[in-house]
Amino acid sequence: MSLAGLNNLYREVILDHSEHPHHKHSLPNATNKITLKNPTCGDVINLEIEVSDEKIADIGFTGEGCTISQSSASMMTDAVIGKSINESLEMAHIFSDMVMGKKHSETDLTKLGDAAILSSVMQFPARIKCATLCWWALRKSLGEEDDD
Ligand code: ZN
Repeated sequence: MSLAGLNNLYREVILDHSEHPHHKHSLPNATNKITLKNPTCGDVINLEIEVSDEKIADIGFTGEGCTISQSSASMMTDAVIGKSINESLEMAHIFSDMVMGKKHSETDLTKLGDAAILSSVMQFPARIKCATLCWWALRKSLGEEDDD
């Protein structure tokens, strides 16, 4: 895909995460696992989480996909590691609202860390599923029902 048109700094951060993804490995002690696919692009994510004391003690992902899907998963794992399940699910909802162009506060965006940069994918509607795939994997692996 072409990232032309994105702010240069944003583009660099996205490319850096996709070329050197954080937490890209499987977890031998995972308590929650899920595989999700985005058929429109061919992205596949295997998300593994070690939940302990209602917290995300560790998280890792494997799989393959486009720049956006890989960098989004890298940014997500950075953002949610060490957080409680409730906080992580709240972040997933903020992210989803953000890329769909719904209203969100600056405070909410700050919680997302680098992942907030992906708000720029709103410019590329075909890429929204690439960006949200890992967050859906998080929600489903933590037992959240489909509600939106
Ligand atoms: Zn993709």
